[in-house]
Amino acid sequence: MILIGVGTNLGYREKNLLDAIRLIMEFSTIHHCSKVVETDALLPENAPQDWDMPYLNQVISISYNNTALTLLSDLQSVEKKLGRGPHARWSPRVIDLDILWFMGQVIDYPQLKVPHPQIMKRPFVYEPIKELAPEIYLQLALQEEASLT
Ligand code: ATP
Ligand code: CA
Ligand code: CA
Repeated sequence: MILIGVGTNLGYREKNLLDAIRLIMEFSTIHHCSKVVETDALLPENAPQDWDMPYLNQVISISYNNTALTLLSDLQSVEKKLGRGPHARWSPRVIDLDILWFMGQVIDYPQLKVPHPQIMKRPFVYEPIKELAPEIYLQLALQEEASLT
């Protein structure tokens, strides 16, 4: 099982989700898509007011016949195709694609951390995971608990 987090808070958000899914289908097989969850933007203090735009978030499960690093680069090309250029951290984005879970692998490279380190701090990520893959949610919750003790 591979889980991808999809987020968007700029432009026509429903269309951005669909466009991302359509492009991801070009290099992977999509199995399930979660419900779409709307949330306020996560923002640092003193963020410009016009960054405060609500997100649509979704999690999708896929299968993919290559490595996690290759998947990261494929997802980054989808982000570019949909118009995401260089941007300030936390600023609004047309699309954000994060690898949340990659077949249970633990990856700790400078450019890729899997499972995604913020999952259990973000209800808009872990609630859809609970829906799509309750057994993976359970593993993540147990890992989080172990890391806190
Ligand atoms: P967050 O990761 O906290 O959700 P973000 O999605 O806003 O933040 P980005 O600006 O999209 O962060 O990405 C910054 C870098 O994070 C990327 O260039 C990528 O190399 C790295 N990265 C590390 N782990 C992952 C992962 N699991 N999925 C996607 N990108 C990752
Ligand atoms: Ca993200
Ligand atoms: Ca990202």
